Amino acid sequence: MQKIVLASNNKHKIREFKEMLEEVDILTLEDVGFYDDIEETGETFYENAFIKAVTVFNFLKMKKINAIVIADDSGLCVNALGGRPGVYSARYAGNHDFKAARKKLLEELDGQKDRSAYCVCVLVSILPNGKIISAEGKTYGHITEKECGSNGFAFDCLFFSDDLGKTYGIATDEEKNSISHRGRALKILKQELEQLSKQK
Ligand code: IMP
Repeated sequence: MQKIVLASNNKHKIREFKEMLEEVDILTLEDVGFYDDIEETGETFYENAFIKAVTVFNFLKMKKINAIVIADDSGLCVNALGGRPGVYSARYAGNHDFKAARKKLLEELDGQKDRSAYCVCVLVSILPNGKIISAEGKTYGHITEKECGSNGFAFDCLFFSDDLGKTYGIATDEEKNSISHRGRALKILKQELEQLSKQK
C-alpha cells in the first residue's frame, strides 16, 4: 500500500487527512521519527507548504523511507482586514493560541459590516522520485458575531461556510471535509496523483 507522510504536527489537520485518505497508509511526522520544528519563513501559503514538504522529503531520503510527502499550509483571510491573518493565521495571537486568536478576530471585526472571509489551503506534495505537485482549495463565507458550535479547531466556530449554510464548528467532520478548503485542495491533489500513477 502506498505510504503518505503528512508534514504536519497539527492533530486536527492529521485527523481530517486520515478521514479523507482512508485508502492509503498515512504516517505522521512522529511515526517516521521527525521531531524538528519547521520554521515557516515564507510569505505565501505555497512557500510555507513547499518549505515543509522539502524539509520532510530530505529527511525521508536520508532515512531511506519510500513515501509520498504531503504538506499543508492554510489560513483564514478576512476581506475587511486586507486578507489578514492569512499566512500568519497560526501566529495571529501567539503561537497556536486558538482561543486568543478567536477573541482578537471578534475584537478586530467589532462594528464591521463586511465580515466576508475565505479559508485557503495549499498542498505541496513530493513523490519519492522528487516530482513536485501542488493544489489549492478555497471555501468562502463570513465571520459570525459569536462562536457557533464546538467541532473542529481554531476558527471553525467563527467561520460560516456559504456552501454548508452553517459554521465549520457546527458541521460534522464529513460535512466540513466535503466542502472545506483542505478537502477541495486534497481532491485536486488526489486527481493529479492518480494521473501520475497511470502514466507509469
Ligand atoms: P499552519 O498549520 O501553519 O498551516 O496554520 C494554519 C492555521 O490556519 C491554523 O492554526 C488556523 O489558525 C487556521 N486554519 C487553517 N485551516 C483551518 C481550519 O480548517 N479550521 C480553522 N482554522 C484553520
